[in-house]
Amino acid sequence: MSPRSDDVRRYLRQNQELFGDELFLDLKSQNVLTSKNNNTDLSSFEKEIFVCQKCSLGSTRSKFVFGVGDPDASLLLVGEAPGAEEDKKGEPFVGRAGKLLDKILTAIGRSREKDVYICNVLKCRPPNNRDPLRSEVEQCELYLLHQIRLIKPSLILALGRVAGQTLLNVDKSLKSLRNTFHDYHGTPLMVTYHPAALLRNPDLKRPTWDDFKIVKEFLEKKN
Ligand code: SF4
Repeated sequence: MSPRSDDVRRYLRQNQELFGDELFLDLKSQNVLTSKNNNTDLSSFEKEIFVCQKCSLGSTRSKFVFGVGDPDASLLLVGEAPGAEEDKKGEPFVGRAGKLLDKILTAIGRSREKDVYICNVLKCRPPNNRDPLRSEVEQCELYLLHQIRLIKPSLILALGRVAGQTLLNVDKSLKSLRNTFHDYHGTPLMVTYHPAALLRNPDLKRPTWDDFKIVKEFLEKKN
């Protein structure tokens, strides 16, 4: 199916913001809008931006954390920003919280390599794990939007209050953001607890599992 012309215009305008005029023209000539090679496209995109210094986090990060997973995933998990361990390894959701997330994914028949892609809104760690600043999100969210355009997930699952609030640009509690399908630039989005919160409070495991069951059912109906 060919993209609608207003979608194309919006896409090219956002690419122009991301890459400037030179690549903007290059993208038009190469017609990346219809590209099918997501793995290559994602890797090329990572190589384009991994030295980013658009906000001050570029100078304090140890490693840029682009994302990992299946480039054709139907489920995209999005956290707020890398933590200390992610900053060291250059990979999102590692450590105890990452292991717990892997177990939850296994329980719904998926894994990091199988129909799931994992990334964060911010690609660099905010010092002392503070919440992302609006100015940082404004700079970095364009990268997330481009990842979404390449991966084309059927569903986005925001992990944690900050990720949910940031993506939806609202100041609501996590409780009120759960159990609803929101819209993120045309893709359905759900919000659930961050796996680190489950480690701190095991009572949150049950509602999180309820959310993942909804995710599973939604994706099964899509297939
Ligand atoms: S957080 Fe995003 S915008 Fe800021 S330097 Fe890192 S990649 Fe660039």
